[in-house]
Amino acid sequence: MSQDLVTFLNARLDEEADLARRCDGDGSGEWAAQGHTVDFGQGELAGFHPAVALHVALYDPARVLREVEAKRRVLARHEFSPAIGDPELPWDNRDDCQYDGEPWPCDDLLDLASPYIDHPDYPGHP
Ligand SMILES: [Zn+2]
Repeated sequence: MSQDLVTFLNARLDEEADLARRCDGDGSGEWAAQGHTVDFGQGELAGFHPAVALHVALYDPARVLREVEAKRRVLARHEFSPAIGDPELPWDNRDDCQYDGEPWPCDDLLDLASPYIDHPDYPGHP
C-alpha cells in the first residue's frame, strides 16, 4: 500500500465535491433547518424529524466543499516518502510519511480513510 490509500482518498473527495457542486454548492445559499423543515436555499422541504432536518442542513454543500478542501490540504501535507535503502542512511530504510515520519500510511491518513472502510475500493478490502 504505497499510494493506494492516497488515490482512494482523492477519489472519495472528488466524489463528495462533485456531488456538493451538483447540489449547487457554489453559492445558492446556506442550507438551514427549522423544526421539521429544511431550507435548501432555493426551496424548502418539510416532514423531517427535527434531528434529521438538522443533520441534512449540516451537509450544506458549501460546507462540504470547505471540508473537502481542508481534507485535501491534510492529504497534501502527508506525502509518501519511500525507503531509500541506502545503508549509510538506515533511518531512511522504510516507507514513511514525510510530514510526521510515521510508517506509511500514517495514522492521520488512516483516520482520513476510516469513514470509508466499508467502501468496496478501500485498499485491502476483501
Ligand atoms: Zn503523515
